[in-house]
Amino acid sequence: MTLPPIGPKLVIATHNLGKLREFRELLAPFPLELTSAGELGLPEPDETGTTYAENARIKAEAAANASGLPALSDDSGLCVHTLWGAPGLFSARWAGPDKDFSSAMLRVEEDLQDRGAVAPEQRRAAFVAALSLAWPNGDAVDVEGSVPGVIVWPPRGNLGFGYDPIFLPDGHHRTFGEMAADEKHGVTWDAAGKASGLSHRARAFGELMAALYPGGPPK
Ligand code: IMP
Repeated sequence: MTLPPIGPKLVIATHNLGKLREFRELLAPFPLELTSAGELGLPEPDETGTTYAENARIKAEAAANASGLPALSDDSGLCVHTLWGAPGLFSARWAGPDKDFSSAMLRVEEDLQDRGAVAPEQRRAAFVAALSLAWPNGDAVDVEGSVPGVIVWPPRGNLGFGYDPIFLPDGHHRTFGEMAADEKHGVTWDAAGKASGLSHRARAFGELMAALYPGGPPK
C-alpha cells in the first residue's frame, strides 16, 4: 500500500498530556511538527467503537477532519484472559473519575481470586494498543501491537502508570512498573529500518513508522 506523506505537520489526536508526551518521545527522530487535538481545541469524539481499532480510527478521523491535517491516535488497554478480556476497552473506566488505579488493580486481583486463578498460566494477560493515522482526504492506516505477560500480586514498582505494576511481560523479571520509560516504550531501529520495542504501543508504533519510513528514521 502506498501511503500519502504525513509531514511536516501532524496532529496527535489526544487531550491526554501523558499520551502526548509519550508520542513526542516516540516521534522525536522524525521530521514532523507536532500539535495535538487538545492544543487545537478540537472536540473529543465519543468512543463508540467495539474494538480498540475502531476507537482509534474514530479519534484519528475526527481530528483529521476537524484540523485539515493528518492525525495520529491510539486506543489501548489490558486484557486478562481468565476474565474474558476484561478490563479491555474499559481499562481507563475501571479506575473511575479519580483515575484510581490502585483500586482498578485490586479489582483485577479480586476477580482473578474469585476464579481461583493462582497459577501463572491462569493469570495470562496482554496489553494491546491500536494506532490509527488518518488523512483529511479519507485515507487511513491502522496497526495493532500487543505484549503478552502475566498478572502478578502485589503490585511492583512505581515507574509507570495505569496497570503497569501488576503486569510482568513474558521473558522479563521486572514488571512494567519497575522499568524505566525507555526500556518499556522505547523503539530501536536496525540498519535495515526494522523497528523493535517491548510495549504494545512501541510495537504498534514501530510497525506504523516502518510503513511510512521504510528505511527507518531519516539520518
Ligand atoms: P485509552 O486508550 O485512553 O482509552 O485508555 C487506555 C487505558 O488502558 C489507560 O488508562 C490505562 O489504564 C490502560 N493502559 C494502556 N496502556 C497502558 C500501559 O502501557 N501501562 C499501563 N496501563 C495502560
